[in-house]
Amino acid sequence: MVLMMGRPRQGTVSERGRSVHLFKIRKDREPGSLTALCGCRFHRQDVEFLGEVRGMPCEICLTRTSDPSGEPSEGTTALCEAKGLA
Ligand SMILES: [Zn+2]
Repeated sequence: MVLMMGRPRQGTVSERGRSVHLFKIRKDREPGSLTALCGCRFHRQDVEFLGEVRGMPCEICLTRTSDPSGEPSEGTTALCEAKGLA
């Protein structure tokens, strides 16, 4: 599983709804739908993945990454830095 940052593509939701969500994704499988850590579900084709933090991170996704299951990933750290939490 890898942690990816992604947000809804332009036009699929309102601009205000285009928060950057975090997704745990299996590299070996291309799912038809994606569920963010916060529980938001998207069609695979409606999500654009980001190599860097852009726009507003989803607060709920951020808090869900601090569970004790593992070390924060690089992407999570970047998001936290963007929010001044690091
Ligand atoms: Zn989210």
